[in-house]
Amino acid sequence: MYSRLARPAVLDIRPYEPGKPLEEVRRELGLRDLVKLASNENPLGPSPLAVAAVRRAAGEIHRYPDPVCHRLTLALAERLGVEPSWIVCGNGADDLIRLAAEAFLDPGDEAVFADPSFITYRYAVQLMNARSVAVPLEGFTLDLERMAEAVSPRTKLIFVCNPNNPTGTAVGRAALERLLERLPEGVLVVLDEAYREYVADPDYPDGLDYVRRGHPVLVLRTFSKIHALAGLRIGYGVAAPELIEVLRRPRQPFPVNALAQEAALASLEDTAHLARGRENNDAGKEFLYRSLEERGIAYVPTQANFLLVRVDDSRAAFRSLLRRGVIVRPADAFGLSGFLRVTIGLPAENRRFVEALAEVG
Ligand SMILES: *Cc1c(COP(=O)(O)O)cnc(C)c1O
Repeated sequence: MYSRLARPAVLDIRPYEPGKPLEEVRRELGLRDLVKLASNENPLGPSPLAVAAVRRAAGEIHRYPDPVCHRLTLALAERLGVEPSWIVCGNGADDLIRLAAEAFLDPGDEAVFADPSFITYRYAVQLMNARSVAVPLEGFTLDLERMAEAVSPRTKLIFVCNPNNPTGTAVGRAALERLLERLPEGVLVVLDEAYREYVADPDYPDGLDYVRRGHPVLVLRTFSKIHALAGLRIGYGVAAPELIEVLRRPRQPFPVNALAQEAALASLEDTAHLARGRENNDAGKEFLYRSLEERGIAYVPTQANFLLVRVDDSRAAFRSLLRRGVIVRPADAFGLSGFLRVTIGLPAENRRFVEALAEVG
């Protein structure tokens, strides 16, 4: 009966398959010593300053949170060199993706994104009864030329995931600028920079430059990745104030919980902790590249905190690794059969992965 009551657009959504939670694997396999490299979390954990801020705020959770994240918005504005009116905070970047869809997509409107890319774009578009236009990657990288060609008079949004999840590749300035030049009026670029702090490529564009120059760009960022606050759910968008004003309309009254706001503020202060996160990732990346090359295993070089690793059968490899206590993501879930998506972990975790993979063959 409820499937008759439900909107067809809702029934069309295949539930998101998250990385297996540690607890579940512990229970299922009776394993204690587990390594989770499945959800692109920061293995160093949160800044101690963020943890202390959560503890301090815990006694006040009977109060509703600040609906507009006033202090955090001011801190972000100062750090980013933009006006507070350019910023909107949300319950994770996922929330802002959903808001963009709700604010701009009517039934029959179109949104362009890459395939494979971050799966949430497709869900958000589907939920609005809008049409998803998925453009295949070219050599694991967003093909912005073809994405521009896919724009029609009905296109309202184009999602550019940079670096792209699940491939880890990034597009450079020239390609992004060409896309912006080519886009007809009335198309908003949602530029998802969830992994920007990990990028090593000097040609990586800073989305804020394009907002400043007046391009129709909404930059999305998150505290879930290098800030290591995924469990608290907080992210933000940066765009022209007129756009932010529109995005605020469909928001829930209190989208960002009080603990998340305090933790995010504290985490912004702890630049040393952020630097350690970046260093751990750089070192882990080099170790994995070297180890995989020594074993003749192919991989896709990454600009993020995860990478695609070539295997014969991604489901079989996933299960074998799981039995050895190493949780990764079989990338066939993203439409990339023959690959695992592996988050870069702590040095010991990376070693565990490489050794387990060698046994799997
Ligand atoms: C993890 C991730 C996000 C962030 O999601 P949150 O909702 O902030 O946790 C956004 N975009 C991409 C591409 C991601 O991989």
